[in-house]
Amino acid sequence: MTISLKTLSYIDGKWTEPSLGGYFEVINPANNSVISSVANCGSQDAVTAIRAASKAFQFWSKTPAEQRAEYLYRWYKLILQHQHELADLMTRECGKPLSESLSEVVYGASFLQWFSEEARRIKGDIIQSPNADKRFLVNKQAVGVCAAITPWNFPLAMIARKCAPALAAGCTIVVKPAEATPLTALAMADLAEQAGIPAGVFNVLPASEGQEIGEVFSTHPLVRKLSFTGSTAVGKILLKQAADTVKRISMELGGNAPFIVFDDADIDKAVEGAISSKYRNAGQTCICANRFLVQEDIYDKFIAAFSEKVKSIRVGDGLQPGIQQGPLINNKAVQKVDALVRDAIAKGADLICGGKVHELGGNFYTPTIIGNVDKSMAIAHEEIFGPVSPIFRFTDEREAIAMANDTPYGLAAYFYSQKMDRIWRVSEALEYGMIGINEGIISTTLAPFGGVKQSGIGREGGHYGIKEYLDIKYLCLGGLT
Ligand code: ADP
Repeated sequence: MTISLKTLSYIDGKWTEPSLGGYFEVINPANNSVISSVANCGSQDAVTAIRAASKAFQFWSKTPAEQRAEYLYRWYKLILQHQHELADLMTRECGKPLSESLSEVVYGASFLQWFSEEARRIKGDIIQSPNADKRFLVNKQAVGVCAAITPWNFPLAMIARKCAPALAAGCTIVVKPAEATPLTALAMADLAEQAGIPAGVFNVLPASEGQEIGEVFSTHPLVRKLSFTGSTAVGKILLKQAADTVKRISMELGGNAPFIVFDDADIDKAVEGAISSKYRNAGQTCICANRFLVQEDIYDKFIAAFSEKVKSIRVGDGLQPGIQQGPLINNKAVQKVDALVRDAIAKGADLICGGKVHELGGNFYTPTIIGNVDKSMAIAHEEIFGPVSPIFRFTDEREAIAMANDTPYGLAAYFYSQKMDRIWRVSEALEYGMIGINEGIISTTLAPFGGVKQSGIGREGGHYGIKEYLDIKYLCLGGLT
């Protein structure tokens, strides 16, 4: 079977018209053409989907883990089977180069594989009792109905990273994908249906904005867990809204990743890591290097090698072969990135390369480096979400650590050094949830992804990921004399 373009919501195993009948357009950011119109769901659809997920929870949570694992594995295989169609769709709705879309499909699918395996490893405990007539047992049970809100920069992987552990644990889930990228989410629902995942277990509600459905997700008493990936500002709104019903929460929020290059670094490797950390997805990932901190005595050498590579990045429509950087998601993003660059230059930063809208126009931005950046500039504090590398100078290790930690965020950090003592010192001193040491690409299904400080709560992936969807139940068995 092939996948066909789906444009309705997927609720309780049925392709469903929106309750208020509205549709919204999905735009290709490479040329601003309309790809399709998609059902615009609202609060009534959210309530219907939550009720369907609650009904499905009754049997899904009791379905043996072995069988839940089989459904997930079938879904995984179908995604791999359709990886090229999915990648093509993803590039058309979010702009990333086809090779990156393909990697994302494989990466996203791997969560279904991994958690299909983890489903069978959900284990309890028996605790030694001090009393002869009592036994203490610990059981793990599915949390219940979950709701997920996901961003546009990883249209498939962010859904898979939440839904795979949820379904493996025995939870059911309702997903609201980002307004820019509902088509990949609906294609996933199509494949979930083909995999035989029962009605109501996985539901998708596209919507032209997040607020209305977000409010239902975070306040409805049947929703026991909310998982969100997106901006810190929206995460804070959801946290406040979810307080009244004391929901379990996972939040993967914004970052301001430092990328530190010490004078003992292998510069070629640091440049290679800098390119992959910064320019992947045109700089639109939450773990993208946001601030390059380079030690004084290698500053010029690093910039010379880095700028040579950055200038050679091929920009264009991600569907064309050989393109390394696609468009930004929309014109608002271009305006924001350009404003950050202008502000830095007005306050004394050096323009090393790029620094303007690309000659292709539209949503394309030139790969950019600016040097001599300091704290007075907005770019030092804001998540850039674009192909711009601001470079700061530092003199010693202590200053680098202080600069790196001088932010309310704590998602990812990177540093390059060849000294083992420094590697331990710096990795322990950085207040971040994930650290790349002599490595620019850190995401993997097998390791815990998540942040500290205002970058989030909870972890996704690895064997940690499923814990977010399991409640601990203590059983005290008495009267055993
Ligand atoms: P980004 O800047 O990456 O778009 P957002 O946090 O605005 O980050 O969006 C991430 C997700 O959050 C999207 O699915 C979006 O629709 C949703 N969203 C935006 N505003 C709200 C809100 N007030 N309540 C719930 N979800 C929201």
